Amino acid sequence: MFLSGAGMKMAMANNLLFSRTPGHRMNSKMESLARLFKDLESDLSKCARCGMCMSVCPLYAETRNETDVARGKLALLDGMKEKMFDHPHGVKERLDRCLLCGACGKHCPNGVATLAIFLKARSLLSGVAGLSPVKKYLLKKMLANPDRLEKWAARGAKFQNRFIKKESPTLGTASLGFPAALGERHFLPLAEKPFHQTYTQEDAKPEAGESTVLFYPGCLIDYIFPNIGQAVMKALHHNRVRVILPETLACCGMPAMAAGDRETAEKLMRLNLAQFEKHSFDHLITACPTCAYAIKKIWPMILAKEEDGITSLLTTLGEKTLDISQFIASRMDPEEEKEIRTGSDEAKIITYHDPCHLKKSLNISSEPRALISDRHKYRLVEMNQSDRCCGMGGSFGIEHYELSNRIGNAKLTDILATNCDIVASGCPACMMQLSHILSKSQSRILVKHPIEIYAEKIG
Ligand code: SF4
Ligand code: SF4
Repeated sequence: MFLSGAGMKMAMANNLLFSRTPGHRMNSKMESLARLFKDLESDLSKCARCGMCMSVCPLYAETRNETDVARGKLALLDGMKEKMFDHPHGVKERLDRCLLCGACGKHCPNGVATLAIFLKARSLLSGVAGLSPVKKYLLKKMLANPDRLEKWAARGAKFQNRFIKKESPTLGTASLGFPAALGERHFLPLAEKPFHQTYTQEDAKPEAGESTVLFYPGCLIDYIFPNIGQAVMKALHHNRVRVILPETLACCGMPAMAAGDRETAEKLMRLNLAQFEKHSFDHLITACPTCAYAIKKIWPMILAKEEDGITSLLTTLGEKTLDISQFIASRMDPEEEKEIRTGSDEAKIITYHDPCHLKKSLNISSEPRALISDRHKYRLVEMNQSDRCCGMGGSFGIEHYELSNRIGNAKLTDILATNCDIVASGCPACMMQLSHILSKSQSRILVKHPIEIYAEKIG
């Protein structure tokens, strides 16, 4: 059981949570909460309240509300460290108004690790206040159980046509025909067959290969975008790479971490580690930057304390994890990328949206552009502020639909100004938001992942 607010404060005052004597050893949940509280105190002290983060926060640009920007959130957390245990719901509500885009941390002159602070604070607050019944069900019953998630997705794919209204044939979007949690959102329906059912391990192994990679597709590619997974496989085989597909796929845990459910995130991390440990591979490849970000940066944060074997395993895994664009671009002729900016007169115009977790969190931006290079077919026209958040932000796009839509519409204006035929983005979640805003505006612009364009190019 978690400690109550008063219990937590008393325990911390008595230094019980950090005790290592057998009689006072606390369970791992309490150790995690205590570690988070301690980390948070030292992290928060780094913010100088300079306000530089205000000019880059996409949420603040819309609301002009101080508590929406990092400076305001950090001040709130700092001033309410004690009250967090008395009024966790109020603090959590304000903290949840955030896209977790990382723009604030990226531009902070003091190097304040805003995303890490927000995630730790969400875990702390959820640990004290608990999760809503809906989130509890979705995270602990569905996401935490890959077999159950697969059955639910199969049923959803089979019966979804009874409930959805098709919207854009070009983009493949749909909406719910009745008021529901998704509201006015246009979304991409579940794929008829998930990616992991379209490949067997035998399909994944060419006879000879220069290197071996483990491909981790993640939930969105598995259940919504199997075409991206197939493009990844084609690209890897084209480059003579042996591919391992994990037998059981579990979510990377980022939705759980964003909701403050560290317990589910840890369960998912350990499920994945058990799969990865069965194989020997040179690189772990993803085509979803949120999965890559989770594996590289979030998983080491999840452990309540150093654990023999696991801590070093996570470090090695983080070093081995690459976005598909990094892996493929490193094998391409560097001259190819230059060609796209000129393009022939017949070439289609393509623009590129930089996903937050790919550019701001992992510093990857030239590699996906290299993948879409093809002077005969495409001419790259950069949009204004290509790295401004699209407004999806995971569950933010559903829980704060109206705000998400306003941020998305700013992105739409920048996309339309390029007069493009295609908008590419290396993130399945961004692709969902881009499809939504384009579909709502009845645009015929296509949305593609760079690896799909690369796969088309290699024929
Ligand atoms: S988070 Fe960084 S940029 Fe924002 S107010 Fe604090 S020190 Fe300044
Ligand atoms: S993560 Fe993004 S939305 Fe959240 S405070 Fe920072 S800049 Fe604003």
